[in-house]
Amino acid sequence: MTKWVYGFGGGSADGDASMKNLLGGKGANLAEMSSLGLPVPPGFTITTEVCTYYYGHGEAYPADLQAQVAEALAKVEGVVGKTFGSVENPLLVSVRSGARASMPGMMDTVLNLGLNDETVEGLAKLSGDRRFAYDSYRRFITMYSNVVLGLGHDHFEEVLDEHKERLGVSVDTELTAENWEKIVADYKALVERELGKPFPQDPHAQLWGAVGAVFESWMNDRAKFYRRMHDIPESWGTAVNVQSMVFGNMGETSATGVAFTRNPSTGENKLYGEFLINAQGEDVVAGIRTPQSLTKAGREEMGETALSMEEAMPVVFGQFVEVVGRLESHYRDMQDIEFTVEQGRLWMLQTRNGKRTAKSALKIAVDLAAEGVISKEEGISRVEPAALDQLLHPTLDPKAERKIITTGLPASPGAATGKIVFDADEAERAAQNGDAVILVRDETSPEDIHGMHAARGIVTARGGMTSHAAVVARGMGRPCVSGAGDIRIDDKAGTFTVRGRVFKAGEIITIDGGKGEVLEGAVAMIEPELTGDFQTLMGWADEVRRLKVRANAETPLDAKTARGFGAEGIGLCRTEHMFFDDTRIAAVREMILADNEAGRRAALAKIAPFQKSDFVELFTIMSGLPVTVRLLDPPLHEFIPHTEAEMDALAASQGLDAEKLKHRAKDLQETNPMLGHRGCRLGVAYPEIYEMQVRAVLEAALEVKKTLGVAPIPEIMHPLVALGLEMKYLRELTDNTAKAVFEEAGDSVDYLVGTMVELPRAALRAGDLAEHAEFFSFGTNDLTQTTFGISRDDSGRFLQVYMDKGIFENDPFVRLDQNGVGDLIRIAEERGHATKPGMKMGICGEHGGDPSSIAFCEEVGLDYVSCSPYRVPIARLAAAQAALVAKSGIAREKDR
Ligand code: ADP
Ligand code: MG
Ligand code: MG
Repeated sequence: MTKWVYGFGGGSADGDASMKNLLGGKGANLAEMSSLGLPVPPGFTITTEVCTYYYGHGEAYPADLQAQVAEALAKVEGVVGKTFGSVENPLLVSVRSGARASMPGMMDTVLNLGLNDETVEGLAKLSGDRRFAYDSYRRFITMYSNVVLGLGHDHFEEVLDEHKERLGVSVDTELTAENWEKIVADYKALVERELGKPFPQDPHAQLWGAVGAVFESWMNDRAKFYRRMHDIPESWGTAVNVQSMVFGNMGETSATGVAFTRNPSTGENKLYGEFLINAQGEDVVAGIRTPQSLTKAGREEMGETALSMEEAMPVVFGQFVEVVGRLESHYRDMQDIEFTVEQGRLWMLQTRNGKRTAKSALKIAVDLAAEGVISKEEGISRVEPAALDQLLHPTLDPKAERKIITTGLPASPGAATGKIVFDADEAERAAQNGDAVILVRDETSPEDIHGMHAARGIVTARGGMTSHAAVVARGMGRPCVSGAGDIRIDDKAGTFTVRGRVFKAGEIITIDGGKGEVLEGAVAMIEPELTGDFQTLMGWADEVRRLKVRANAETPLDAKTARGFGAEGIGLCRTEHMFFDDTRIAAVREMILADNEAGRRAALAKIAPFQKSDFVELFTIMSGLPVTVRLLDPPLHEFIPHTEAEMDALAASQGLDAEKLKHRAKDLQETNPMLGHRGCRLGVAYPEIYEMQVRAVLEAALEVKKTLGVAPIPEIMHPLVALGLEMKYLRELTDNTAKAVFEEAGDSVDYLVGTMVELPRAALRAGDLAEHAEFFSFGTNDLTQTTFGISRDDSGRFLQVYMDKGIFENDPFVRLDQNGVGDLIRIAEERGHATKPGMKMGICGEHGGDPSSIAFCEEVGLDYVSCSPYRVPIARLAAAQAALVAKSGIAREKDR
């Protein structure tokens, strides 16, 4: 018999923290906290396997689920001393989702389930608090209707607002028992009117309705989007937690709150969080009332007057501090905690490894290692490589003038400039058109996630430091200012107003998420300084990684940036980029138009000095580090204009023969340029071009050797080779040119000759190629194109469809297809090394900066990865993590 249901509470549990796959993160940690003896309201978890079963069996449950739930529910009733559905002594429960990896706000929770017209009276009598009972009931009706019955919150808010207006009341806490009773009656009438059915009164029907809704929510659009963004497989499924209710809304000695054991923005080792007295569940994060700080220090820092929990509830606060301290040492990581105080009694409702900014992740990892809580290796595994991106980008120049529009809370650090948009869909559209936008909203909800992702930054008028906007923005690494209370948004007009000043959609603003400022216009930015914790952790990473990290760079600026970020050489210098410069393109065109070799050589002689000086600069910057130079790769027609008018203009300005130009352009036209006359096929047809390039590389190397006293390490790379004989021809061309150059100079440098492996045939016949090549660089962009037969430039039209239909799990141009393309790389590695043991191999496609692809390179045993300069630190960390997995099995947890 399969165990579908795991109980927890009352000092013990069926499961524990290691069972996240089965119980989901929330369920596993509730079980763990129960076993630790912490005060957890008892409940049970329906496993993720039920979710998998549900979707595998036409949305049906396993046959014995009902009996197991009944048994678990009876146990809870025993511990709590209440009965589900009883009128005199009703047990109420929450129904909570909980996937393996935390998906905050993705799935909806229903609180106070079990209430109906009769049990609400029982609850009123039992608690001696009618107001509380009806407050709970109205919350339940709203949540249940929304989550299970699909009736939007706004319907209920409208009714509530009408009542408040009529009563002249502005905050919910001012409403009396009688008020709530009337509101409940109106709510029920609303449900019946809108849905044609009365609100369900049977607690068991309510329970199964809510359980079904949790499973259903696994497949809603926002959950799908979040999974795609965070790489969470659909097959994981969610668990459902059913837990006895505790009430933070039972008056002034009750409260609910959220806490982080360390600051999630900065990583500072200080308890951090917010709470609300006489409130329930989501009130703190929903931004309906402004939450208060947990600690006195926090309150003073924020300049708040409302008492902190430390001051208002010193005794419970003391217990709380002890519990969260225990949780952090137990989990050995910063915890994100939910709790409730019911009439002076503390209850723990959730703990998980807290989401954090990159800055905070670095500090916490380095601090925990320094505190001896974790090892350096674990420290390395705690930081998500891709998150470093947040730190590698510019911040506002402290010297730049700031015209402050308004200030809010510093919800997520970083700076961003963009056009104002008010709508998530609009943000996504604008971003697709290449516009930088700032999403400005009253508050955000899970429906806005795609827009938040598309935006450069987020501003909300309402909500605190733990509001949806703040939490999600920090997780995504988007700068965010929340609770900018002066902002009045007029959606219809497409404007927001701050103290009489109007800002329109499309206007440029800048935000400083670290300070909580919203600023006029674009503000100057500066490059980040990578010192402190960043440097410490990268130092640790460099100690453990085996893979070398190089950069793809051709301009001096890129090369300098790459070195600054710790690149150990250049893995791909694309020489054609050097041809496009205004000063050279004329000579390049002259070469293309030449009728014969002599004409081409004459033009090439004009380009040669430019090429040489480019390489001198690069070799100087990369002093003593290897530089892989790829010889000319694109088809020649890319260098001449395409339209008749452009060609006429060019001919006129350059004194060229317009007819000849057009004729040549026609000659060069190809049906399928990606598979046409390009790569080494140019070098074979026009050897003088490659000769000039090889000469420029080696002459530059000789010159730098003289001036610097350190010999550069040029690696001359021939693109798009498919045949052993091609490689042989190119090898001889290169060596003969080198010989001539060295003889003329009376000096020499060491150099390597190799090829880019970017055609399936090259991978399959790597043994032939290796006879003439000294290194391979896997050009995985083209290798992916040629393996799939998909042109990257044309894939946009159908790739999304493939991903939506689950045929492609990822874009193979972003994440290496480790099966197909990966097989070719494995074969090439094997066959290449069989011919030439120890020959150097690396990867230089976009994939060189993608952490999971880097892990693949580690497995295959390549020597280096090469990526864009800004991804070099990410690659260094990813390479270290890959080495750790290989060496000691220390892996990074998905839900950090
Ligand atoms: P999420 O994953 O969105 O945080 P949760 O299931 O954790 O959803 O719950 C939403 C809110 O309801 C949280 O504030 C949580 O603390 C509160 N809550 C959940 N279950 C209970 C319960 N049994 N008693 C009191 N509050 C609860
Ligand atoms: Mg929660
Ligand atoms: Mg290529």
